[in-house]
Amino acid sequence: MVTRRSMPQSDITGTGIMQIHDFTEQHPILDVDHVRQEFPILGRRLHDNRPLVYLDNAATTQTPQTVLDAMDDYYHRMNANIHRGIHSLAEEATQAFENARKHVQRFLNAADSREIVFTRGATESLNLVANVFVRSEMRPGDEVIVSEMEHHANIVPWQLLADTHGIVIRVIPVTEQGELDMAAYRALFSERTKLVAVTHVSNALGTINPVAELARIAHERGAAIVVDGAQAAPHQPVDVQALDVDFYAFSAHKVYGPTGIGALYGRLDWLEQLPPWQGGGEMIKRVSFDRGTTFADPPHKFEAGTPAIAEAIGFDRALQWVERYGLDVISDWEQHLLLNATEQLQTIDGLRIIGNAEHKAGVISFVVDGAHAQDIGLLIDQLGVAIRTGHHCAQPVLRRFGLEATCRASFALYNTPAEIDTFVSALRRVIDMVRG
Ligand SMILES: *Cc1c(COP(=O)(O)O)cnc(C)c1O
Repeated sequence: MVTRRSMPQSDITGTGIMQIHDFTEQHPILDVDHVRQEFPILGRRLHDNRPLVYLDNAATTQTPQTVLDAMDDYYHRMNANIHRGIHSLAEEATQAFENARKHVQRFLNAADSREIVFTRGATESLNLVANVFVRSEMRPGDEVIVSEMEHHANIVPWQLLADTHGIVIRVIPVTEQGELDMAAYRALFSERTKLVAVTHVSNALGTINPVAELARIAHERGAAIVVDGAQAAPHQPVDVQALDVDFYAFSAHKVYGPTGIGALYGRLDWLEQLPPWQGGGEMIKRVSFDRGTTFADPPHKFEAGTPAIAEAIGFDRALQWVERYGLDVISDWEQHLLLNATEQLQTIDGLRIIGNAEHKAGVISFVVDGAHAQDIGLLIDQLGVAIRTGHHCAQPVLRRFGLEATCRASFALYNTPAEIDTFVSALRRVIDMVRG
């Protein structure tokens, strides 16, 4: 889990700051105070001047000053609509937007920047794939395999298309430990299976799924694979070529970037072959009433309308920020926090952790005997601790465990072992209060 790693990448932003001092087998040391100073919001105090302990990072991560500056600078100096303008501002904005695309390409190790489509986020990326793939590649009765641990964003689009296009949804069951049942997965394939749609990391259980293996099996059976990477991209290095996936979706706001933007990776041959989804400006070559309309090449074919330009620039800067530390370091630090929190939570009487997969990201779901998740969430907030309670947009997997709600703590690079201590002692107090 926590292992010795090489030093992180050199200081690519030229700020002269090197925060990571040393990682040892037992005690990874990160200058986390320095990391925290980059996030203005982490200085907030709530309810009787208690310091904010933010442990809801699986819902959204906080944004460092450098990302806020990048977006501010765009509106101060550069704001213009992109791609069609020939004036200086339009050219600068276009350049910055397309640089962001190249950065996402490098971040995912995609082979070509034309394989990166900007969307509103993971949800829109998944809806895009579902709509164009089903319309173009699937006939009534054809099958898509999803898993029981999907976020609703990777369930409901398929259900909507099942209603309109007659496709059939098959579901990979989840084991008691919270892992995909791989034997059941293999057995779900039929001649009609066209696509597998699975999450890389479960936002409800923390489980890291074996995506390369899932992809290999899908391809052997002649199916394509789309991966929901919303919870993986913030926590571990992702290489879409090594994973050999056809599509990969994620959101900027869970990777220290702004809301309103995300990306879809699609293999170039797919993006060339598939039809557009939304129509409008940016996505056409020529529009005519009598001689037909032709479409732009990928990725612009899938980017109708004015995109989120400032957010793309913020996204670019957020990835730069992440790379300054390195995803290996982020992953190690979060594993350290996960281990620490898991050990402490296990000492609480009547607390049960939901999802005990062998490979987990920094997400812990739990329930407590005699205390409703909602009550815990409300009361612990009064002590300054932000966790999430509810179904986490993943109702099927909670029902799999006989639950309607859990509490969830999720970690980011700026969280500290001291915050875990505060969280656990606050939780003990809250449980005592609820149980009376
Ligand atoms: C957050 C999340 C989504 C949805 O992301 P949006 O940014 O809300 O579009 C999808 N899947 C998983 C696993 C998530 O955690």
